[in-house]
Amino acid sequence: MNDKKIRVRFAPSPTGPLHMGGVRTALYNYLFAKKHGGDFLLRIEDTDQGRFVPGAEEYIIESLKWCGIQPNEGVGFGDGPHAPYRQSERKPLYRQYAEQLINSGHAYYAFDTAEEMEALRKQAEAEKRTFSYDSFTRGQLKNSTALSAEETAQRIANGEAHVIRLKVPQKEEIQINDLIRGEVVFHSDLVDDKVLLKSDGMPTYHLAHIVDDYLMKITHAVRGEEWLPSAPAHVLIYRYLGWENEMPQYAHLPLLLKPDGNGKLSKRDGDRLGFPVFPLDWQDPSTGEKSAGYRERGYYPQAFVNMLAFLGWNPGTEQEIFSIEELCSAFSFEHIHKAGAKFDPEKAKWFNEQYLRHASEQEIAARLKSVVANTFNIGADDRRLSENYLTQAVVLLKPRVQFEAEMPEKGNYLFMAPDQYDQQVIEKKWKENSRSFFVALANAFSTSSTFTASDVDTLVKETATTQNIKPGDIMQLFRVVLSGQGGGVDLTGMASLLGKEECVARIELALKKIQN
Ligand code: GLU
Repeated sequence: MNDKKIRVRFAPSPTGPLHMGGVRTALYNYLFAKKHGGDFLLRIEDTDQGRFVPGAEEYIIESLKWCGIQPNEGVGFGDGPHAPYRQSERKPLYRQYAEQLINSGHAYYAFDTAEEMEALRKQAEAEKRTFSYDSFTRGQLKNSTALSAEETAQRIANGEAHVIRLKVPQKEEIQINDLIRGEVVFHSDLVDDKVLLKSDGMPTYHLAHIVDDYLMKITHAVRGEEWLPSAPAHVLIYRYLGWENEMPQYAHLPLLLKPDGNGKLSKRDGDRLGFPVFPLDWQDPSTGEKSAGYRERGYYPQAFVNMLAFLGWNPGTEQEIFSIEELCSAFSFEHIHKAGAKFDPEKAKWFNEQYLRHASEQEIAARLKSVVANTFNIGADDRRLSENYLTQAVVLLKPRVQFEAEMPEKGNYLFMAPDQYDQQVIEKKWKENSRSFFVALANAFSTSSTFTASDVDTLVKETATTQNIKPGDIMQLFRVVLSGQGGGVDLTGMASLLGKEECVARIELALKKIQN
């Protein structure tokens, strides 16, 4: 096994938008493959035609692209040597393996109709037990283990609808060596006879993923914990197909939990608590219902990926900020926790904030240009849209936001004069001599030849001294006069950016509007 090239796969079913837990599964697969110079492939598991949702496959592909989790084989990524990678297109492949299992006595035909199965389930429910199609019940049901060979052959010859089920033995221990959980032992008496091939000729997940993992030479199957209970049936299928030596190593990833730790993180938690659980916006094609995505909320993909990596894994050090390349080299299954990982929406924002701190101001400015122009109705030649002005605005605003998209709104006073003034500050700080101070300050500004932040600082202090005011008493009022707000970006930096003409104009405006 060790000398084989590492090959892993992400194998989502296109039944809706990809949950962030699914993205994490893809990420861990990717990191593991990259770390070991292996292959990472994307396989679309669409054998459950009843649950197929239009657009879901495209959504999966776009999500992986946005995150930079790039498969080197698979649907949407140029296919590869094992095409097709969409299970519905591989349909003719699977039956022979189901029949091989029948021929070796490890599977059987079952003719029970959907109505009969439903009745059995209902009856069990009424008796407060759960119905299981297994080694204990199969003898009383309509299948080739209970019927005579002639009757079975007759029914098949008549074209009667049937499925093929795995014949799970009694009284066997089935062991799995899970990369995260270690050795897990199951008792075969508790394993049901899983359907392998459905009546429409489509394989179930159980058969299809095994056939594909085998044919695609997968060495490690990294998947969600919800599949652990099915794993003993999977071991049996490998064994009975004669592929046990080729069986990939399983790794069952811990669940993502709600912020309070009580249960699985669901779409409803996101709606209720106001955070996305999907990478991209999604609109349900049948109901029209919309769900928010990290991308549209303004998260950087690098921050989203970094945050996801830490949901269930840690590097064993204090370092928290990792590029995807750094994650590749730090990643290992030993540092994945067994317990579920609690999602913390505040921490998600924190990650974005860290990436924002290190993002280039020029690049942010370029991205915000059209938003600023539209929001504040600014013409193309206006200095507020110049690279220099926007970049300086970003420098001022960066320490005060977690997302770059917050900047225009949070820093609106950098782009337009205030139309109201923080009343609380005015009431508290506006004194008899305030008016004369600002008149003098406007004068001092007008006659100053330079207008750097430190010039502004000096001019404010000098004017305060000549007006017999302590600079500390006037600063917040000065801020309100310029921006309308009691708090905000660095004050002298803001004044310098606005420029002396704008500062003088805003002082005059404030003197008109503030009545005290
Ligand atoms: N199609 C399965 C799912 O979406 C894949 C599980 C696996 O990775 O084997 O959960």
